[in-house]
Amino acid sequence: MKTKIVYSEKCLGYGTWHIEGPQRVKTTHEILQSKGYEFVEPKPATDDQILSVHDADYLFNVKKGLVEDSDTPAYKNIFEFASLSVGGALLASKINGFSIIRPPGHHVGRSGNALGVYTRGFCYFNNIAITVKESGKKTLILDIDGHHGNGTQEIFQGDEKVTYLSLHQSPNYPGTGSFTEGNSINFALQKDLGGKCYLETLDKALAMLDLTKFEAVAVSAGFDTHTGDLATLGLVEQDYFEIGKRVAKLKKPAFFVLEGGYVGQNVGLDIDSFLRGYEENL
Ligand SMILES: [Zn+2]
Repeated sequence: MKTKIVYSEKCLGYGTWHIEGPQRVKTTHEILQSKGYEFVEPKPATDDQILSVHDADYLFNVKKGLVEDSDTPAYKNIFEFASLSVGGALLASKINGFSIIRPPGHHVGRSGNALGVYTRGFCYFNNIAITVKESGKKTLILDIDGHHGNGTQEIFQGDEKVTYLSLHQSPNYPGTGSFTEGNSINFALQKDLGGKCYLETLDKALAMLDLTKFEAVAVSAGFDTHTGDLATLGLVEQDYFEIGKRVAKLKKPAFFVLEGGYVGQNVGLDIDSFLRGYEENL
């Protein structure tokens, strides 16, 4: 069965000048539409859902627009965009779908900045973390974005229900994730190492896990590992097919939440490749 894509045109309504801008998702949507995917529209998350991860002061600050940093602007009405993006992840988890709604989320911790990092890296609420908390399920979070998800690691550090596994470029923003700490398993990889080495590392990482522990898999699906993007690991479209295949082989209900990936043309084709690899191997 073809995975449904969670999307709302509303998520294009901010940040035209920023690298994390509407064009990346607009183009992604057009490509997935041309490939015949079905789209579903989410509702915004409630305050209670957001508060399952974030503290009340931080929620207040996002609502009031008091969250400006050098990467992460306090756009007008950012609370509405950010809560809709959480809603996208929540719906993706219910239907085992793929949310392509922006803004992304994996750099933001409980009260904003995470693990001492000086910006929130284009993130407002941690979409995937809120969704995993809400599900209450024992979950493997597989973070394939090219940056370390310092927010997600901070939120779940020491949580027995969740294992966080990240493959990311180092050195790069946010500078965390150099080593494995308890339930946060980190692979810091060199720029442009290429698909073959990447997939060998992913295989090694997945082989370390006791899969009987998990009821679900949540993928922080970033595509800035694509050659030439912000955290390139030298991956090309076909490599995402191989990653999708490996997720299917975990044999758990899975859902997918867009993180980075800043060239819309690549992101759209990479998501299609990833989902074909996933679906053909279920
Ligand atoms: Zn990234």
